[in-house]
Amino acid sequence: MDHFLYRDGALYAEDVPLAEIAASVGTPFYVYSTATLERHYRLFDEALEGMDHLVCYAMKAASNQAILKTLAALGAGMDVVSGGEYLRAKAAGVPGDRIVFSGIGKTTDEMRLALEGGIRQFNVESEPEMIALNAAALDLGVRAPITVRVNPDVDAKTHAKIATGKSENKFGIPIARARAVYAQAAALPGLDVIGIDVHIGSQLTELAPFALAYAKVAELTETLRADGHDIRRLDLGGGLGIPYTRSNSAPPLPTEYGALIRDTLGHLGCEIEIEPGRLVAGNAGLLVSEVIYVKSGEGRDFLILDAAMNDLIRPAMYDAWHDIVPVIEPEAGTEQQPYDIVGPVCESGDTFAKQRMMPPLVAGDLVAFRSAGAYGAVMSSEYNTRPMIPEVLVHEHQFAVIRARPTFDEMINRDTIPEWL
Ligand SMILES: *Cc1c(COP(=O)(O)O)cnc(C)c1O
Repeated sequence: MDHFLYRDGALYAEDVPLAEIAASVGTPFYVYSTATLERHYRLFDEALEGMDHLVCYAMKAASNQAILKTLAALGAGMDVVSGGEYLRAKAAGVPGDRIVFSGIGKTTDEMRLALEGGIRQFNVESEPEMIALNAAALDLGVRAPITVRVNPDVDAKTHAKIATGKSENKFGIPIARARAVYAQAAALPGLDVIGIDVHIGSQLTELAPFALAYAKVAELTETLRADGHDIRRLDLGGGLGIPYTRSNSAPPLPTEYGALIRDTLGHLGCEIEIEPGRLVAGNAGLLVSEVIYVKSGEGRDFLILDAAMNDLIRPAMYDAWHDIVPVIEPEAGTEQQPYDIVGPVCESGDTFAKQRMMPPLVAGDLVAFRSAGAYGAVMSSEYNTRPMIPEVLVHEHQFAVIRARPTFDEMINRDTIPEWL
């Protein structure tokens, strides 16, 4: 459920008409709903009620400071995957003991940053990383709390580019090697081995792959405890999918996911962490764009928008579907027609949808891409020297620009000319 609904024939974000935001900030723009962000965070928090737990929002999904502050105020932890994200989380007021650090390529500088600033745990993904972290910790005279990310060799049944839990993926250590790696970690004096981490992929629409992975984690917990390790925290990753279209069957609910966690792992008495990203932010954001032209092609009509693949890469990168709806609600009974919906960038991949049924639209009409809150703004670029589009946060009847569109001067002046030119 989200808070983007039609009222009196116009699409609103909470209590603000989208057309009003468009008139104020110009198109295209991203808009997020505070109530939706809060609701989704709470769904996870409540799903784990009764277990010692922390929901660490995977901030790579949408990392604007205002979004992080909204979630941090509810008690959220953060899952970060770079030094930059660590600094973003700290800048939003998240204490170090609520930040977990994931990622396969943490540098020594990033490790030092987190060790000095405070960290809940590092999710370590390889032996060389373990050795580097041990050295960084000893150098600072501290011990680094770690889990080891295990790769359970489970098929997440999602798009290949966002599956991470198969043995051929670059993530984690093979679960078959876990005992040896934990023994090695325990022997390193700069490391404090506290738990196990797993994350099998993103946009999972069934519980079965989670069930398989978590059963393996439960078994590994017992094995490692028998080996003498004090396994007391399980980080179960993120990955629960969202409905990208209302006509599809809905993915499992956070409550069902929480029940699965309780059933597979609850008996172990471990502290539980989860790292949802997409489900927190995805349906809490829209991309709003204006139709520039309607062009008649060979047997098809093109809707040319002012948003493009550089603003929302998901259709080009993952063949992703986004529902695209007119901001002015079509009257009941309006006949739909097929459009190829494209952006202005000079690539054929700059296509959002092919032969999409839409009510008739004309230049100047506004459309909204639903489910654009996660992996939207954060993956945007300035390709074609198109400015990064503004982000707007709505809270009831208020809205605020939380990232302004840069001016062309700002963009151009980021370049510097060598003195020989
Ligand atoms: C991307 C990622 C997540 C979040 O995945 P979602 O599908 O957005 O929930 C969580 N943990 C790790 C380690 C990740 O890389």
